[in-house]
Amino acid sequence: MAKKICIIVGHGKSESGGYDSGAVSKDKKYHEFKIAREIARYCAEELNAAGFECDLMNYEGNLYLTERVKKVNANDYDFIAEIHLNAGGGTGAEVFYYHGSPTGKKYAAAISKSIASKLNIRDRGAKIKLGKSGKDYFAIIRDTEPCAVLVETAFIDTATDLSKVSTAAGQCECGEAIAEAIANINGVKLKDSPAAAESIKLINSPVYASSTAKTARSKKTGTYYFYDGIEFNGRYRITNKAANCGKKPAGLYVTGYIEL
Ligand SMILES: [Zn+2]
Repeated sequence: MAKKICIIVGHGKSESGGYDSGAVSKDKKYHEFKIAREIARYCAEELNAAGFECDLMNYEGNLYLTERVKKVNANDYDFIAEIHLNAGGGTGAEVFYYHGSPTGKKYAAAISKSIASKLNIRDRGAKIKLGKSGKDYFAIIRDTEPCAVLVETAFIDTATDLSKVSTAAGQCECGEAIAEAIANINGVKLKDSPAAAESIKLINSPVYASSTAKTARSKKTGTYYFYDGIEFNGRYRITNKAANCGKKPAGLYVTGYIEL
C-alpha cells in the first residue's frame, strides 16, 4: 500500500488569524511562507507522481500551527514534513526530528543531505531541539502522531542561500530534493522528469497553448529549454532562452507546452 505522506507549509496564518510571513529577507522582498509554499507544492507533486498518497497542507496559509497539528492527527499519515526557511544569518540546510526517533533521524539526515547537494549549500544535518521542559521544541514534531520532521531548507537572510530558492526553478529543485530523499528511504524512484533549464531540440514539434489544448498552436524547430521541469497533464512548459526558466510571470516567458 502506498505510504500516506503530508507535506505542510510553515507559517501563513498567525495565532490571531492574521498573515504570518515567517522570516523575511533583508530587503523584506521575500517571505518565508511564500517561498516555503512553492517548495512544498513541488515536493508534493513529485511524491504524488511517484505513487505516494501525498497531501499538501496549508498552501493557502489558512491554518494556524495548532490547526495544522489537529488536522495531521485527524488523518493517518505515515510521515509528515513541515517546510520552512531558516533565519539568523547562517548558511545551509538542516532538518529537525523527534528526539529518540531513529526513523525521524534517518529522514532528517537524508533530506538535509539531499537539499544541500542539490542546491550546493552546507549540509547542517539532522538535529533535535528541546524546550525547557525537555520535550521537543517544535509543536509540529512534539504534538503530532506520525513520524515528523521540520525542514529548514536554506537561510532567507543570507544572500547566497536565498538566491538558491528565490526563483521558481530553485524552489522546484529544492522540492524535488526533499521528495527524492523521502522516496529513496521508501525504496521508490522519482519519476524521471526533465530538470528546469534542461535544453531540448525540437524538430517541427507541436507546441500547445495550454496543458489541455487539443490542437497545437504552432510547430517549432530549434533549441528550447524546460521552463521548470514540472509536468502538467503529461506536458511540460518550454521557453526559448535558458535565462527565462522559472522567471515570473510565466505568461511572459513560457513559449508553450510540449509532450515528450
Ligand atoms: Zn519558519
